Amino acid sequence: MALKGLDIFKLTPKTNCKECGSPTCMAFSMKVAQGAVDISKCPHMSSDAMAALSEATAPPMKTIKVGTGDAEYSLGGETVLYRHEKTFVSKTRYAVRVNAADVDAKMAVIDNVDYDRISERMHVEMVYVDYTGEADYAETVKKVAGKGKTIILGCTDVAAAKAALDVCAAEKPILNGATAANYAEMVEVAKAAGVVLGVCAANIDELYDTTKAIEGLGYKELVLDCTEGTIKDTFATAVKVRRAALAKNPDRTCGYPSIVNVAALTADTTEQCGLASLFTMKYGSIVVMDQMTYAEALPLFGLRQNVFTDPQKPMKVETGIYPINGADENSVCVTTVDFALTYFLVSGELERSGVPVNLVISDAGGLSVLTSWAAGKFSGNTISKFFQENVEDKVKSRKVIIPGKVAVLKGDIEAKLPGWEVIIAPNEAAQLVKFLKDMQENGEI
Ligand code: SF4
Repeated sequence: MALKGLDIFKLTPKTNCKECGSPTCMAFSMKVAQGAVDISKCPHMSSDAMAALSEATAPPMKTIKVGTGDAEYSLGGETVLYRHEKTFVSKTRYAVRVNAADVDAKMAVIDNVDYDRISERMHVEMVYVDYTGEADYAETVKKVAGKGKTIILGCTDVAAAKAALDVCAAEKPILNGATAANYAEMVEVAKAAGVVLGVCAANIDELYDTTKAIEGLGYKELVLDCTEGTIKDTFATAVKVRRAALAKNPDRTCGYPSIVNVAALTADTTEQCGLASLFTMKYGSIVVMDQMTYAEALPLFGLRQNVFTDPQKPMKVETGIYPINGADENSVCVTTVDFALTYFLVSGELERSGVPVNLVISDAGGLSVLTSWAAGKFSGNTISKFFQENVEDKVKSRKVIIPGKVAVLKGDIEAKLPGWEVIIAPNEAAQLVKFLKDMQENGEI
């Protein structure tokens, strides 16, 4: 049962020393009750009070960190079932499954997909190394270690898992191999190596009981493998586990991130891609597939980016100068806002025109042209300041094309940017192609 602010306040020192960043102990208690700050921010809480409060005020779903360096990822930590309620916190990570037979071939192409989309790097973050009974499982793992990927050891054999961890424990992999039959030994192995343990089971009841037993042994660095024999059962388990974790009275035994191995559900890679989209939405923290080519990546990463961006924060692109169609310092400038949708529409049309242009994106708060203009974030002042500070020393052309919807800014910009000619673009991005081609033919740019 979640604690109320008053319950927490009763256990604070009540000195109002402000060291936690809140003006009073009561204010701090209210924030802890809302989940806005962690109880550990008060350095004066007695150990008894800490012990009593830590468990009760902990978020319903644990945040688990795996991997190291650039390949370190947070899993879980979710607080809502639906994105529209608040936001999802830790995006789904995709793993490619390899085994002794195909590890060389798959690792050779694993980075073929690696691109940026709206300031986010899209690539395969994890590799799931499937144990297939081979004598030298550690050799297979060696071929994956040190490649900048978080490793998941899909191995229920205790001795093989131990040997594999000798090779890769420093990279903080996930040991996905605790079952009802071996969990006590696997807990020891995972504890000794300091890695996250994946709990596997034939059905949801077994998954729950095994997780409960592992918690009883004092180990809570866990992920729950929701994969079962059929797609239907796997989906039901993934949804039930998440619902139980985030219910009004949460069941903390379900409050861990999940793995869904769609490669184990079907051999058809197209179907795997469909299932990966399903489990990106409900509720795979890690989704394991057999491959990630552009055919899978483009829809999946696009979907993930849409699901896991905070709906309260506008999607923005980086400010700066984007040369298009081989533009150089003498090419005309086109300026618009940093709202991602506007950027992609405008840059697409500019590319289609074939005319070299420097697309200049200034900080407009991630809003559309008219909204940012109305909010004063895309004005004569902001545009001229950005050009003076970021463009004038890099571009020799002194012509800038502004969106037709803010034609009213022409005079203001020209007054504040001496020497620049401001040209008004059409109202719609789709009209840019003809507009630019005509200007080029007439020798105006
Ligand atoms: S640091 Fe602790 S004692 Fe000080 S104001 Fe915050 S809650 Fe109160």
